[in-house]
Amino acid sequence: MEGKIYINGEWLGEQLPQLKVMNPATNECIGTIKQAGISETKNAIVAANEAFRTWSKKTPHERFPLLMEWHDLILQNKQSLAKTITEEMGKPIKESIGEIEYAASFISWFAEEAKRIYGRSIPSRARNKRIQVMKQPIGVVAAITPWNFPAAMLTRKMAPALASGCTIVVKPAEETPLTAIKLIELSKEAGISDGVINLVTGDAEAIGKELTTNSIVRKLTFTGSTEVGKLLMQQSAETMQNLSLELGGHAPAIVCEDAKIDEAVNAVIASKFRNAGQTCICVNRVYVQHTIYEEFITKLIQKVAKLKVGRGLDEQVQVGPLINKKAYEKVKLHIDDATRRGATVRVGGDGYVDKGYYFQPTVLIDVTDDMLIMKEETFGPVIPVTSFQSDEEAISRANHSCYGLAAYFFTESMARGLHIAEELEYGIIGWNDGAPSMAEAPFGGMKESGIGREGGTEGLETYLETKYISLGI
Ligand code: NAP
Repeated sequence: MEGKIYINGEWLGEQLPQLKVMNPATNECIGTIKQAGISETKNAIVAANEAFRTWSKKTPHERFPLLMEWHDLILQNKQSLAKTITEEMGKPIKESIGEIEYAASFISWFAEEAKRIYGRSIPSRARNKRIQVMKQPIGVVAAITPWNFPAAMLTRKMAPALASGCTIVVKPAEETPLTAIKLIELSKEAGISDGVINLVTGDAEAIGKELTTNSIVRKLTFTGSTEVGKLLMQQSAETMQNLSLELGGHAPAIVCEDAKIDEAVNAVIASKFRNAGQTCICVNRVYVQHTIYEEFITKLIQKVAKLKVGRGLDEQVQVGPLINKKAYEKVKLHIDDATRRGATVRVGGDGYVDKGYYFQPTVLIDVTDDMLIMKEETFGPVIPVTSFQSDEEAISRANHSCYGLAAYFFTESMARGLHIAEELEYGIIGWNDGAPSMAEAPFGGMKESGIGREGGTEGLETYLETKYISLGI
């Protein structure tokens, strides 16, 4: 596939240098994209601004059928889109199909929800005044997305932006631009007007600089690492852009002695090994109450040892390759650091290179809180497990992090669970649930995991300006 940039409804950039897109499972080139920079980004912003004049004037009811047509086309093309995801980022094909369904769900949910963007009328203290509050689309939006969910991270931004009347310039990750290109092709087929969606690929630094410093752009929505999020925040201070930052995480999972142990084991495995551990909300560290520690470990190891690693297009595979060599080396570093400081590998522990970079699902015990793996995102298929005595100890250790994205706990007690849920300093809590993401719920983090929420009514509100009219009568 030869990908181009998309500006004002046209596929452009014939003259631009090409970048290769590689399959992380086979290290084969599966397509190319264009290397755009500042001038193409400027053009995309101008096109989005021009389109905003008409798109923002449509009613949500007029935008609704266009968005639903896009949604339907995505689902009709689910198999081929899923194959593209697996080919460019490696995740097992079943997970890619799930991602496409998840990605489409943002479009239908926000297309509906935009019909319910209400203003309000406030009783005034002055008899001769009437106070009206209205919501209006914020304007041109810039969206920068990561490689780990090439479809869902895009629609989680594009759907609320478009449904609320904004237009958008999108920059997908260099590793996974082909899914983005295919989604945008379908948006054109659905009849979404020229200029409403624009796509630039290429020089991240140059594109990011233009998107953050161009005063036409009124909002930046970014999903990616905390490091790049901080940089973009600094850059956008110049233009005072509205910011949504969905950044890194380091999710704890607390398993209390009254939990259903088999269900907790399954939930931890589902959360940890999805996408080979390359998700921002995956379980990164497990705290198990000392009374059930041995039983939990035994059950966990039995199941983890059976997970099948390999190429994602093989339907039997449950854990695909890591995205690249750097990711592989980070996983190795975390395991080496942990074992050097006294951790024990109970299953897995090693990786292998077979054109792509693969890592065996790994369980580490005897871990301590000073190990890298207990502090930094591993972004790989490794679970460190430790024990705790009291709930207060578990909560305190779980909260001891600069991240605050997702946290999980397992207990059958309502009172205990509410206490833990209220004390955890995380934006997303999975209580007896290892898969808490859905379009209708507010997703996002505290502390250095970011600013704002995506999904839910909060995820729509963030694309709206509040305007107050004081009417003298
Ligand atoms: P990343 O390195 O921060 O890259 C994310 C995006 O930012 C990519 O499109 C990248 O472009 C771009 N980028 C990099 N440097 C830039 C710069 N100087 N200016 C403008 N854009 C720049 O993150 P990643 O490795 O793709 O993704 C993994 C991270 O995302 C993890 O930390 C994970 O936790 C986080 N994440 C968070 C959420 C959430 O909802 N909170 C969801 C998914 C992932 P290039 O690819 O072209 O370099």
